[in-house]
Parts: sequence; structure tokens; C-alpha cells
Amino acid sequence: MRDVRRGPRLVMLGRQGAGKGTQCALLASRLGLPHLSTGALFRREAAAGTALGQRVEGCLDAGELVPDRLVLDVVIHALQGAPGGYLLDGFPRTVAQGAALFETLGPSALDLAIELVAPLEVVLPRLVERGRDDDTPEAIERRLEAYDERTSPLLVWLDSRGVLATVDAIGEPLDVHERVLAALGERLAFPLP
Ligand code: AMP
Repeated sequence: MRDVRRGPRLVMLGRQGAGKGTQCALLASRLGLPHLSTGALFRREAAAGTALGQRVEGCLDAGELVPDRLVLDVVIHALQGAPGGYLLDGFPRTVAQGAALFETLGPSALDLAIELVAPLEVVLPRLVERGRDDDTPEAIERRLEAYDERTSPLLVWLDSRGVLATVDAIGEPLDVHERVLAALGERLAFPLP
């Protein structure tokens, strides 16, 4: 049972272009939760040319997942000092990362993972418009493949543990946000602000 005195511990997942970053920003601000985006963190490190940044840069540019060990070192370290709720954006992305999250932080590491569901014909035009530096057509294709190959099994695994909610991500950001809040209300039974 969740300790109601702390905020919820949430994960947002979704294939590239599903609106993960937008929905995380809306949700983190609505619930007052710290928001940790592994993708944003890696991009910052790469831009600053740190040792970590140099190790992950090739993966970011190619659209490959960063090796689990490296991701885990960074995330677990950040979360060990977070006694309250949090919103993880883009982590975990593999079954190994999900298992490590629970092994390290215990069963209360995650209250609910929310998958933003959007079909390819919806995400592809969004990705073309977005044009981030690392959004080459090859990298986009590789990221979409990585989601199907590496993250789909994680979704099945989270569902089998009873901690997955799926939300239709088609439509205006604020409408999707309301659906995310409704899913949280339904699954976690905590008062919405
Ligand atoms: P995002 O901003 O979430 O789309 O992440 C951008 C890129 O960062 C991904 O394509 C990966 O190269 C890397 N990345 C972010 N989070 C993870 C993760 N949990 N595991 C492996 N690679 C990640």
C-alpha cells in the first residue's frame, strides 16, 4: 500500500513523439513533483562535454539506448536522495532497468507507470515538426525500433506487476493531460489538486 504522506512515484513512457516531455512537464507542475528526464540529462551532459556526456553522445546521435549499467548508475544515484514522490521521464526503458529500480529502492519505488499510446501515423508528423538536433531520420527510426524491441517487453512486465496504466495520447496536450490525471485518480486513489 502506498504511503499517502508522500507524493506518488510515477513513470511516463511512450514511443518517441507520443508527447512524453510535454505531459511530464504538465504533470510535474500540477502535482509539484520533481521531474527527472534521463534523455534531457544525457543531452545536457553531452552538450557540456563531460566524461558521462562523451560516453553517451554516440548512442544519442544514433538513436540507440544508452547501456543499462550507465543509465542505472545515474538514475539510482539521483533517486537514492529522493525520499518523496517523483516523476521519471523515459526511465526505465528495459526490463533490466525496471528490475534494478525495484531491487535497489524496494517495492515502493514505483506506484504507477503511464504509457502514452500513439500510433505511428500520429507520431511521425510530430517528429518531423519537432526537429531536435539529434532527430535525424535514421535516429528516429532506430528509437522507434528500440521502443518496440526493448521497451515493449518492459510494458508487459509492468502490467504483470499491476503497475501499468495506458492513456490515449491522441489529441490536444491539455486533453491528454486530463486523461493522465483521470488514470492516476482511478488507479492511485489520491486527491487531485
Ligand atoms: P528521450 O529524451 O527520453 O527521448 O531520450 C533520448 C535518448 O536518450 C534516447 O534515444 C537514448 O539514447 C537515451 N536514453 C534516455 N533514457 C534512457 C534509458 N532509460 N535507457 C537508455 N537510454 C536512454
